[in-house]
Amino acid sequence: SLHQNKTSHRSYLALSPRSENSEMASHIVGYPRMGPKRELKFALESFWDGKSSAEDLQKVASDLRSAIWKQMTDADIKYIPSNTFAYYDQVLDTTAMLGAVPPRYGWNGGEIGFDVYFSMARGNASVPAMEMTKWFDTNYHYIVPELGPDVKFTYASHKAVNEYNEAKQLGVETVPVLIGPVSYLLLSKPAKGVEKTFSLLSLLDKILPVYKEVVSELKGAGASLIQFDEPTLVMDLDTHQLQAFTEAYSELESSFSGLNVIIETYFADVPAEAYKTLTSLKGVTGYGFDFVRGTKTLDLIKAEFPKGKYLFAGVVDGRNIWANDLAASLCTLEELEGIVGKDKLVVSTSCSLLHTAVDLANESKLDKEIKSWLAFAAQKVLEVNVLAKALAGQKDEAFFSANADAQASRRSSPRVTNQAVQKAAAGLKGSDHRRATNVSARLDAQQKKLNLPILPTTTIGSFPQTVELRRVRREYKANKISEEEYIKSIKEEINKVVKLQEELNIDVLVHGEPERNDMVEYFGEQLSGFAFTANGWVQSYGSRCVKPPIIYGDVSRPKPMTVFWSSTAQSMTSRPMKGMLTGPVTILNWSFVRNDQPRFETCYQIALAIKDEVEDLEKAGINVIQIDEAALREGLPPRKSEHDFYLNWAVHSFRITNCGVQDTTQIHTHMCYSNFNDIIHSIIDMDADVITIENSRSDEKLLSVFREGVKYGAGIGPGVYDIHSPRIPSLEEIADRINKMLAVLETNILWVNPDCGLKTRKYAEVKPALQNMVEAVKLLRTQL
Ligand code: GLN
Ligand code: ZN
Repeated sequence: SLHQNKTSHRSYLALSPRSENSEMASHIVGYPRMGPKRELKFALESFWDGKSSAEDLQKVASDLRSAIWKQMTDADIKYIPSNTFAYYDQVLDTTAMLGAVPPRYGWNGGEIGFDVYFSMARGNASVPAMEMTKWFDTNYHYIVPELGPDVKFTYASHKAVNEYNEAKQLGVETVPVLIGPVSYLLLSKPAKGVEKTFSLLSLLDKILPVYKEVVSELKGAGASLIQFDEPTLVMDLDTHQLQAFTEAYSELESSFSGLNVIIETYFADVPAEAYKTLTSLKGVTGYGFDFVRGTKTLDLIKAEFPKGKYLFAGVVDGRNIWANDLAASLCTLEELEGIVGKDKLVVSTSCSLLHTAVDLANESKLDKEIKSWLAFAAQKVLEVNVLAKALAGQKDEAFFSANADAQASRRSSPRVTNQAVQKAAAGLKGSDHRRATNVSARLDAQQKKLNLPILPTTTIGSFPQTVELRRVRREYKANKISEEEYIKSIKEEINKVVKLQEELNIDVLVHGEPERNDMVEYFGEQLSGFAFTANGWVQSYGSRCVKPPIIYGDVSRPKPMTVFWSSTAQSMTSRPMKGMLTGPVTILNWSFVRNDQPRFETCYQIALAIKDEVEDLEKAGINVIQIDEAALREGLPPRKSEHDFYLNWAVHSFRITNCGVQDTTQIHTHMCYSNFNDIIHSIIDMDADVITIENSRSDEKLLSVFREGVKYGAGIGPGVYDIHSPRIPSLEEIADRINKMLAVLETNILWVNPDCGLKTRKYAEVKPALQNMVEAVKLLRTQL
């Protein structure tokens, strides 16, 4: 059994000998790999820039891994994961393990090294990167495997075994983590040319032999427990897909003999059918469940749990930064213990800690009280252990009581609760919050005021952020320059951007967002209820990390946030100047959100704050206001049954922000690239006057989706060129694009704009690109 060979199972770093406790069973699903100060990011980027060697990179990586293993060993974690490190992405690691390298990367067999690996991740001089997409509803992005009928799977990366051995040499016994074969296939996409005809699951028979090899090698190296992550089990799977799990694990069973195998699920509850499949899998000794987002699984377990199997209970939240409510978790665990038996329960995290910040210890500037409410990955490891110990009858009273105090202070703290906000948000329920006039009539009223030409041109908001600009902001923040100097610099920058747009002859101008570091942080810093960390980074993709603000309390807007800059900008031109705001859903989805009230309540509060801003902008004479909802699609729950609920409150929140404006005020919204197919009705239901969307990656598909939107009558601005690339699109190319759009969309609703904000580009790229865009429009106008 799992707990039997504990003496051989546990050994410790020579540094920290420790007595063992037979009852304690704690487990961590996975751990952030960037390091507490983003050490991996800097090592990767320096390696990619040719500034350091492969050995340098490997050294940073192995130091990070050993620090993590030591930390978990010191925290007395029984089941410590290995192979949760990745140089870029764990799905790409699996692609490498299976040798499923798309032919264009020219791999000739042999162990996959950095060159092939990073070419797949980032592209190289001659071949673009593989596609990247969101990992479930997190902000993490994985590299999508491209599989066709001709892939020859071979065991081509021994990383899992190498990491296991590396830990063993440090004296740490680990649980190798593999992405399970079925989830791997379900998260893949068919290779080019076979998109419509190919069934990914038909490859199951071909990848299982490689999995068997890996398992047997791990076993040979001494592993006694292997974790297979099969998170797709929380999705809507059909019988055929569920059947694939049964087949896969029956096939693998022979290689599992003498091993314990756990199947880990996360991000939601496991639906009843999937639960039945999962708990009937051959050769599997335990199951991991997310009890933070998947509380419904509790009911299934209460109704039936297979005898003799292990339950890995994910009670510590891997996706947020709040300290666990230990007393509440202990209750849940005790209840579970009553069902599965004392020796079969393992305390765990809800998912990999990859999705939370790394170490609270580095937050020296955070307010003390707020800090006491938080736990990052390093602290969550301690929480898991403390819960396991408590279950084993060794409750750390001091730890529990400090935790109870923090929970109590969070519940009663006046900085959390704002009665007026609570009341206003509660008052929103049941009402639709829709502008009284329909969109066509509004557009008519707006046109009378704005008098725009056909195919109006605009941009999405930001203009290039120069080194100089970043310096000004930084120095202002550090009190190194006065407010006066700061305002003067920003005004100059706005003036430059306004003049440039006038020279280019753009119709609806923007101020360029020079005062903003980040579209969420900028607003969060001015709203109450938000806190910011110094090092609370979370990996987004590859070396990229984000530092989400923490929403800890009721949200309100003490004073106007953008009115000064927008009206300053408007005063510089007679053309319409767009006010530029981030929408409530995007602010919510790109923050760590409080867990003591439903997400929608927090979203409504943010919506009310943005509503005040919208109305103040209108009063200040801003006639066009863009409310960005770049991350609306991101919050879509993994399961279809929950889509409507989310979309309803999300879209409602957006409408709350602008339902109070006059017909003549034009509301724009912008959305970054995502799969719009299934949410087009919700986008229409946002009831914006003009929608700009990123489009460069999927012309036809997107346009066919928006054909639907034509019926609705709003203005639509599908981006006419890709801003992610330094390439300058030609006039002809842009004209061609617009013509393709005109074939589908009516002339009078089409807007012309780039794909997204220009802040990451250089002026040397932006000027000619926008010039070509405006020239293309000029040419087309003469032809219409
Ligand atoms: N207004 C923002 C900008 O231009 C929008 C960015 C985004 O959608 N990600 O930068
Ligand atoms: Zn965008």
